[in-house]
Amino acid sequence: MTRLVILGKQGAGKGTQCALLVEHYGIPHISTGDMLRAAVEEGTDLGLRARATMEAGELVSDELILGIVEERLAHQDAQLGFLLDGFPRTDTQAQGLIAMLAPNGIDVAIDISVPDDVVTERMLARGRDDDTPDAIQRRLELYQAETAPLLEFFSSRGVLTSVDGLGTELEVQARVVDAIEKNR
Ligand code: AMP
Repeated sequence: MTRLVILGKQGAGKGTQCALLVEHYGIPHISTGDMLRAAVEEGTDLGLRARATMEAGELVSDELILGIVEERLAHQDAQLGFLLDGFPRTDTQAQGLIAMLAPNGIDVAIDISVPDDVVTERMLARGRDDDTPDAIQRRLELYQAETAPLLEFFSSRGVLTSVDGLGTELEVQARVVDAIEKNR
């Protein structure tokens, strides 16, 4: 059983680390950002509701997010573990997650730590449609206000581990796996 949450600002290298971790542990990668982008692409009702919010770099409503995560976690492939990426992003989402998983919990929450100036540079370089300078700035502010407090949330549950996100992908991966093994 490997129930993981990965935390970190956008541009902290979560995407790369997620790909390596799902391979290493054989668990599904559950990214709310990917699910929302797929919904926008397909033009589903969910996508239509989320699109403008995403383009502005704002957070989609907790209710909508909790709904898609709960549905995803009910799938067969998530019964033996999962890697949550981009979720939870708010205290309400974190409380909702714990309620959904009860009586189980999260085994390890991994925080990939990278300074603001480094993530801004990386995001501008990747050039995704929603990576405008204003949206990047807004997301960093939201991270500070809404998501950084989640470090305390997971820390108080004794499942937080913080990993230095500077260095090569493989260096960071070695630190991440080491941290998970020490903390699970
Ligand atoms: P991401 O790929 O995780 O950076 O997500 C891209 C965008 O999708 C974010 O800027 C938000 O607008 C939206 N989003 C993704 N996950 C969440 C979440 N857990 N809560 C609220 N909005 C989210």
